[in-house]
Amino acid sequence: MPTPDPDGLFIDYWEDGRFNVLAEVWPHGNRRHRIARLRAVVRKLRLGGWQCWECREPIPLYRRADARYCCEACRKRAARARRGT
Ligand SMILES: [Zn+2]
Repeated sequence: MPTPDPDGLFIDYWEDGRFNVLAEVWPHGNRRHRIARLRAVVRKLRLGGWQCWECREPIPLYRRADARYCCEACRKRAARARRGT
């Protein structure tokens, strides 16, 4: 599955916890997908930040908007911990 365009979103964090999210929307292609991604990311940031469930690092912009982990290693570590192995 192709990953989203990492340059399609820009996130600016302010010192007081607020943030600005800027989305690049092109006149060609499907604008709705980019706007939906922007909305999903903004919703995550409002609900306490878009960060990895395992290492608490911010999730990089090349991950999908519904990603819970920053990388495969964190996802696998969490799965192993869940299984208790
Ligand atoms: Zn992580």
